[in-house]
Amino acid sequence: MSKKPTKYIFVTGGVTSSLGKGIVSASLGLLLKERGFNVTIQKLDPYINIDPGTLNPYEHGECYVTQDGAETDLDLGHYERFLDSNTSQNNNVTTGRIYQTVIEKERRGDFLGKTVQVIPHITNEIKRRIKILAKQNYDIIITEIGGTVGDIESLPYIESVRQLRWELGEHNSLVIHLTLVPYLAASGELKTKPSQHSVRQLMEYGIQADILVCRTEHNITKEIRAKLAQFCNVDITSVIESKDLDTIYEVPLNLQKQNFDDVVLNTLNLKSEKKAELKDWKQFLKRYKNPKRKVEIALVGKYISLQDSYKSIVESFIHAGAELETEVKIRWVYSGDITEQNVAQTFEGIDGILIAPGFGDRGIEGKIQAARFAREAKIPTLGICLGMQIMTIEFARTVLGLEKANSVEFDSSTVDPVISLMEDQKNVVEKGGTMRLGAWKCSLKLGSKLHEIYGGRNISERHRHRYEFNSEYSKAFESNGLVPTGFNPETQLVETLELKDHPFYVGVQYHPEYKSTVESPHPLFVAFVKAVQSK
Ligand code: GLN
Repeated sequence: MSKKPTKYIFVTGGVTSSLGKGIVSASLGLLLKERGFNVTIQKLDPYINIDPGTLNPYEHGECYVTQDGAETDLDLGHYERFLDSNTSQNNNVTTGRIYQTVIEKERRGDFLGKTVQVIPHITNEIKRRIKILAKQNYDIIITEIGGTVGDIESLPYIESVRQLRWELGEHNSLVIHLTLVPYLAASGELKTKPSQHSVRQLMEYGIQADILVCRTEHNITKEIRAKLAQFCNVDITSVIESKDLDTIYEVPLNLQKQNFDDVVLNTLNLKSEKKAELKDWKQFLKRYKNPKRKVEIALVGKYISLQDSYKSIVESFIHAGAELETEVKIRWVYSGDITEQNVAQTFEGIDGILIAPGFGDRGIEGKIQAARFAREAKIPTLGICLGMQIMTIEFARTVLGLEKANSVEFDSSTVDPVISLMEDQKNVVEKGGTMRLGAWKCSLKLGSKLHEIYGGRNISERHRHRYEFNSEYSKAFESNGLVPTGFNPETQLVETLELKDHPFYVGVQYHPEYKSTVESPHPLFVAFVKAVQSK
């Protein structure tokens, strides 16, 4: 039997950015997965960076890392958390990467003397990147186009979608246009004009949207639906409302209520007898919305003004909290403000502390103060990546008496480089894509706290860092109570630290937050919240 053709769904955005294309894509992916289809979601980003790895989290939010070591847009985190399945390098492509590939081909002479142009060379490369995922046997590929229709930089993507739709033929692709229906308080009305314009703009580029998803603060009335349908050439059942909700995790249910998945399947000529029951999902939501207790955890970081910078950590707390029927409130603490004088006051009444990942030396001394306070006051604490490195520096300075101990990231000539560079990192000059990235195996010490937490000794977690715990200091740490308990089985690099005689003081060099999903809350976050709860 020949393989059924892969179906393609394109998600575009109109009127403004930040309407939540990522959440709509992830929600649709979940619904289609529940209907029995093998689905993946891809994001095309119209900026020139090769990947978001070199972008400041202030600009672009968290950099999410996939299993195979791709540094990607934070939307990929949503895709994984909703679908409970892995994405890869192929799931996030930027204009930079597209051009890089085309220019490399040009230098090799692959174009045989032709003039290299946006159409067809760039658009061909975009189409290739979209279709590449079909090789992995997906029934449906959802491709989210970053930016807003009309942006100069997203034009080649829109043109590629136009060409692809034509090539794929009827019923093999569909376009969902996410738009804003603003409310004018002065006249008490919802307005459809911006959406009409953005759909029309899409039509100017040769693309007719099949489905409109309308972000709105108020319910869209039947009349508004009819008006949108009429002006935008879509069926009235294809006008879907996406009202602001308490949590992003309610979005799939809200879309399902309007038969969003049926509309999509009908348009693609796909049939499924299976209903999307979303039993576990609903269970999760129920627990999340009806917590039995509340804890407050301080998130100590330097990118505090934009909470997107720590997206996966925030979501991991939501998953773990729901699992334990506990509301996890986050107290955002800017590490640059913490001093020896105000540290106790900063953490007054706090139940737990998370020392966040990060780069560069701003706010480091404040984080060290936080680590010391948490250790001495016996507050349950989790240090992630830079957080573990901070725990190491603090312990070396205060307990081991190595006053000048530091990471070579912050002091390249420190006499006690307790966090140092691995040999193979020493000559690296390029910043992009050169860190220790992606999933690495880790063996946990028999009988360690982490062994118990994970329920096994062999784990695999995702990394994103350049610096490492310096094993030359292992013995000194261990004999003074901060024990290395997890090791890379090949290189013996120290991946985890646990403090003795403390309710919970754990540092991990990896990022557990990248692997927490609604279906599988991460055991380390669950254990941490449990420890916080019993403080
Ligand atoms: N800056 C540190 C390093 O590169 C930690 C990185 C992180 O927290 N992700 O090793």
